[in-house]
Amino acid sequence: MLDAQSLGPLVLAPVAGSFLGVVVQRFPSGSPTSSARSCCESCGAVIAWYDLIPVVSWLMLKGRCRRCAASIGLVPIGMELGAVLIALTCVALLPPAAAWFGCLLGWLLLAASAVDATHLVVPDKLSVPLVPLGILAAEVVAPGTGWLHAAGAVAGGGLFWALGRAYRGLRGQDGLGDADIILAAAAGAWLGPAALPAVILLAALAGIGTLACTVAAGRATIGWGSRIPFAPALGLVTWILFVTKLGPMP
Ligand SMILES: [Zn+2]
Repeated sequence: MLDAQSLGPLVLAPVAGSFLGVVVQRFPSGSPTSSARSCCESCGAVIAWYDLIPVVSWLMLKGRCRRCAASIGLVPIGMELGAVLIALTCVALLPPAAAWFGCLLGWLLLAASAVDATHLVVPDKLSVPLVPLGILAAEVVAPGTGWLHAAGAVAGGGLFWALGRAYRGLRGQDGLGDADIILAAAAGAWLGPAALPAVILLAALAGIGTLACTVAAGRATIGWGSRIPFAPALGLVTWILFVTKLGPMP
């Protein structure tokens, strides 16, 4: 079942996960991810190539810097394993072209979710490209459906924008961030307009689950005005619907 076309995403996955791990970890500082060599954030030591092998290096070093033994944290290994899991699922369930798009969607949403979970912010660089990519994916996977998915993007973004306006009108404060509107537009672009009711229902349920976990972990108390990361819920639902095709892909 594994042919050359399926191998591509699997080979690229650990590297993509490793790169996105750096993007997530360097997010607040805004330092360049591609040009600068990787350094230890504690002691500044340049990390050697043999300590940058995805998954393997983290396990060999037990998640610590080789020089100062400072903890590297769980982000690198989490992103690498997450990216591999996404690629395995896509290759197993989707034909080759759709599998590549499923990986792109999953990897970008994984990184966006990780930043949202840690900083309560979704970088536009990770979310905005998802909108045109979703329309492109529809046109490539099912030629002639790009326009419908473009309409889905407008509908998804518009719906969340309207919900946000209504909430602000009722409560006098923002309930949905701009990032949530962009991610809803992305969901519409990838899944088409017919999938939006299912996306919103499932994302709301997953969001409540996220909130319950956050409160259970003692990291937040519920109250009006609490900001909870919504990207992981919305992202997970969008990706699962795309990969399983539960979302109508006309
Ligand atoms: Zn160090």
